[in-house]
Amino acid sequence: MNTDIYTPANVFTDENSVPRVMIAPQRYIQGKGVIDNVGRYISLLNSKRASVLASSRGHGAEGARIIHSLNQRNVSSIVTVFDGECSLEEINKQVEALKTENVDCLIAVGGGKCVDAGKSIAYRLGLPVVVVPTLASNDAPCSALSVMYSSEGVQNDVEYFPESPALVVVDTGVVASASERFLVAGMGDAMATWYEAKACLTNPNGRNCVGARPTLACTAMGETCAHTLYDYGEMASASVAVGRCDDSVERVVEANTLISGIGFESGGCAAAHAIAVAYTHINSVHENYLHGEMVAMGTLAHLVMEDNKDATKAAEFFARVGLPIHLGQLAMSRERKEDIDIVTDAAMAAGIMHNMPMVVTPDLIRASILGAHELGEAVASDIGDEAFCRLQAE
Ligand SMILES: [Zn+2]
Repeated sequence: MNTDIYTPANVFTDENSVPRVMIAPQRYIQGKGVIDNVGRYISLLNSKRASVLASSRGHGAEGARIIHSLNQRNVSSIVTVFDGECSLEEINKQVEALKTENVDCLIAVGGGKCVDAGKSIAYRLGLPVVVVPTLASNDAPCSALSVMYSSEGVQNDVEYFPESPALVVVDTGVVASASERFLVAGMGDAMATWYEAKACLTNPNGRNCVGARPTLACTAMGETCAHTLYDYGEMASASVAVGRCDDSVERVVEANTLISGIGFESGGCAAAHAIAVAYTHINSVHENYLHGEMVAMGTLAHLVMEDNKDATKAAEFFARVGLPIHLGQLAMSRERKEDIDIVTDAAMAAGIMHNMPMVVTPDLIRASILGAHELGEAVASDIGDEAFCRLQAE
């Protein structure tokens, strides 16, 4: 059993030369109905007995389809119920229950927290992990890291793994039938990828999530990610709103899941994610908004910070698909200076903030948050907030 904490920076960081490193899952499979072929795909892993981790809701839906598909290929399975929090407590409980079950692979089926918990459990048991996301709201499925929470749901750590998921299987039929708000939040998370990767590449001291330099390959992927969202994002959200899975949905799901997943991990994060995570320090924001919604706000502040001409374009795109673009849409206010200070201090303390190519100070962060807020208010008065209000009311 793996009990050591793996630290990628110890492997890749060298005083004299920092290599370029790209991290990616071994295989990525996306399409409508692919969930029913999981049994066939895991023959690639020679698996004979798999643990299927999902919430009790997930077991009644996608989990049952996967187990049926495993049965057809004579792979036995054990049902493992995820209790909703990616916490050490939950992970240790599942490891205890599985360690005498002789499983040779773990299939994590669900949203970001279930996927991240699955990666942590599989690492401890020394098993390959197969990820089957049921939402396209985040870029957890492809990465070799897990965001850890306390049992109360407060983000408190990140765990890194030496291996990426062995297989990522994304059924676009499943993700297209989830709420439109999830796909749109995924676009907010994915839109940051290109701008953050560019910041890390421009700053010679910029580092990706394994402490290495970004490759040109993942920077190119980040650019494709942004273009895909600008060109197809609105079309895809309109399709998902009526439960239709078409080419625009396929493109945006790939941008949200594969491209953004490789892009953030291999390209590196910067101000957009530093500020997004800092917003979770405000309880009312943490409890009511999705990660990708906070990243949209972080991305606007990031673009204002670097005086990027894309700031207005991004704000207009976010307004049209229904992402928050000003403090009022996060139920915050610029008058509550103490809240802005909490976000500023937390963002300043985040290591990834200093991947930006300029010297970042608390004053610059505060000015960027408030500048993004003013830009967002101006764009909202032009374009309106119909999409945002509709998604929040769902
Ligand atoms: Zn993210």
